[in-house]
Amino acid sequence: MIERKDVLILGAGLTGLSAAWVLGDRATVLEREARPGGLVRTEKIGDYWFDHVVHLLYFQDLDTERRVRGLMGDVLAPCPPTAWVETPHGTTRFPLQMHLGGLDPEVCVRCIKDLAELTYKPPAQQPRNFEEMLLLTFGRAMCDAFLFPYNRKMWKRPLNELAPSGFTWNITRPDFEKVLKGAVAQNLDAKAYNSAGWYPRPPAGSPVRGMEVLSASLAGEASDLRLGQTVTSVDLEERVVTVQYGDRSRTWTERIGFKDAMLSSLPLPRMLKMCEQTPPDLREACSKLTRNRVISVALAVEGPRPKAPGHWRYYGDESLIFTRLVFLHEFDELCAPPEGWSLLVEITEPAEAPLTDPKVLLERVLADVRRTGAIPEGSRIIDHKFMKIDPAYVVFSLENQPVVERARKFLASYGVTSLGRYGSWEYSGMSGCMHDGFDWAEKIAAGKAPAVVEEESATVVSGAGKGR
Ligand SMILES: Cc1cc2nc3c(=O)[nH]c(=O)nc-3n(C[C@H](O)[C@H](O)[C@H](O)COP(=O)(O)OP(=O)(O)OC[C@H]3O[C@@H](n4cnc5c(N)ncnc54)[C@H](O)[C@@H]3O)c2cc1C
Repeated sequence: MIERKDVLILGAGLTGLSAAWVLGDRATVLEREARPGGLVRTEKIGDYWFDHVVHLLYFQDLDTERRVRGLMGDVLAPCPPTAWVETPHGTTRFPLQMHLGGLDPEVCVRCIKDLAELTYKPPAQQPRNFEEMLLLTFGRAMCDAFLFPYNRKMWKRPLNELAPSGFTWNITRPDFEKVLKGAVAQNLDAKAYNSAGWYPRPPAGSPVRGMEVLSASLAGEASDLRLGQTVTSVDLEERVVTVQYGDRSRTWTERIGFKDAMLSSLPLPRMLKMCEQTPPDLREACSKLTRNRVISVALAVEGPRPKAPGHWRYYGDESLIFTRLVFLHEFDELCAPPEGWSLLVEITEPAEAPLTDPKVLLERVLADVRRTGAIPEGSRIIDHKFMKIDPAYVVFSLENQPVVERARKFLASYGVTSLGRYGSWEYSGMSGCMHDGFDWAEKIAAGKAPAVVEEESATVVSGAGKGR
């Protein structure tokens, strides 16, 4: 006999957990991993803690802030970030366009001149691709100094083959006056970009640290969270999913159904592949949705902490393997023992590229990190761990958007809503994902039909959803 629940939620990342909190005992969450949180998990190596990727929480709406701060209390602490941009023309605060004064004066003047031209003589032409979008937004000099090399390293695909929009996560365009101010006075407007960050700082001895404290808090509110359960197929007509669970020696399968609605936060192509009713041409189109993975290399370092490294630093130099170095002890000093510190190295790769031999990769990472001077004299790397995040960055190609819309509408026609960073196949942050989970669940709780929910959620995605 098939067990049938009111609501099924696939995936216990922040999207699924937020929806489960609102729906209480009406919802069952199925998660393949042994711990909830999805991307928002933190690994412990000895006395060192490492988030899977850099994670700072920026609230984007008051309702989400009220719920999450209410749940976490004082453990969630303000953490205004300091980020730096390393270019061959100097090191300056992030975002570059607001802090041009940190660059070599010649380069700084060229950046201002090019931006002034764009501002006071705006080109009539609309950008046709990502490369043109960067050029028409920031001007040639800023692109050459940092934006082109950094984005080439980040996407590892020709920038003129990527879509002109969608990449708003790491791009802020200030007005020209602010750019001028940032050129004449370094470090002035720290509030310009996401200054209201939050990070969990539980007391010493806490069994969980890092941003996983957020996932664990949300998971504590879910009534029926089933871990270690991998969804392997979905029958949309019958409203039933098949799950597999067990261990290396033995696995079991089980079928679970839903009566009212299902939320999937699984990556959209994976979900469409698992659904028995997906038309072959849609399945094929979804299998071509491209993405980048991130390889995070966690380095446990013993020795004196670097002086004011900032929370993270971007590197435009294409000869360095990584895009970013993240100093986790700056988020929470207890993320490392007092005589050490934790460094997270972020490497992006096309998901379709073969994986590098870990030994070779580690040697390259260590050599490149040393080359930047990020490891002060007297510091020693005592342990490391690789973490593969796939998908990590959705690639917005010129063809993707219609496929994503068709796939989500197809699921919605069966009462299934695909949400979250990878369910919506978008750029979204933690706050946006939690908001979408809460919002969907509130509507389900109010008895709205899932198809209506899907339409309304789609509005959120194309409006406020971007740029999170
Ligand atoms: C490099 C990087 C840096 C980031 N930095 C920030 C930041 O600083 N601030 C910020 O706000 N956001 C940041 N984000 C974004 C943030 O992490 C995501 O928006 C958010 O965690 C997505 O949550 P989700 O629940 O939608 O997806 P996920 O966390 O991916 O959850 C999906 C869940 O589904 C499960 N699952 C998958 N397949 C199956 C299956 N077959 N059966 C059962 N379960 C399955 C997975 O295990 C996972 O738990 C960053 C993301 C990346 C990649």
